[in-house]
Amino acid sequence: MCTFNEIRNTRYEIRNIMLTIGILALQGAFLEHAAKVRQLGVEAVEVRKPEQLEGLAALILPGGESTAMGLVAERWGLVEPLREWVRSGKPVWGTCAGMILLADRAVGQKQGGQPLIGGLDVTVNRNYFGRQSKSFETLLEVPLLGAEPCPAIFIRAPAIIEAGSQVEVLARTAGHDEIVIVAVRQGNILATAFHPELTADLRWHQLFLDMVAG
Ligand code: GLN
Repeated sequence: MCTFNEIRNTRYEIRNIMLTIGILALQGAFLEHAAKVRQLGVEAVEVRKPEQLEGLAALILPGGESTAMGLVAERWGLVEPLREWVRSGKPVWGTCAGMILLADRAVGQKQGGQPLIGGLDVTVNRNYFGRQSKSFETLLEVPLLGAEPCPAIFIRAPAIIEAGSQVEVLARTAGHDEIVIVAVRQGNILATAFHPELTADLRWHQLFLDMVAG
């Protein structure tokens, strides 16, 4: 007899090696991401040092505060290893602050700028939704995830205001006077401006694990 989790595990095994997903755990909502990944039957570990990236199948950069995360990453020697991770095409998913870190360009940065990892050919506005209301929940149409709309929680959230031609837009929502992009994929990079780890909907984590398992 096979349990639900065993079936899931089989799905995310490659050549009998269990996949392990790293969650950058410098600051922010890393525990919630780890819980979702484990709920899908996949191992998750916290990453705070460059050597902890070794052997991981994929990496999640959580939401929180991108300036704080960038500064800690710089202090702990993680910025270059993370850039190398993205450059080499290994799967990575950034949510909210994590999405900002993955952007090639950001506006609304702290004075003096902030370290970005880059790799995703977009321009983000760091606190796009922050000025309007600090936090809100909405439903997003995401054709890639099926007909049922996705609940999405935005917390001082960024938006993508410009995306390169290689970027696949997965979801948009109403911004101030325009429609803005809030979820994208580019190769092995997934980015969401909101927090899928804070809702009961597992489809974003499922999508990322499917990208990882190839
Ligand atoms: N706007 C925040 C930042 O600049 C991100 C907010 C979040 O991750 N919830 O980092």
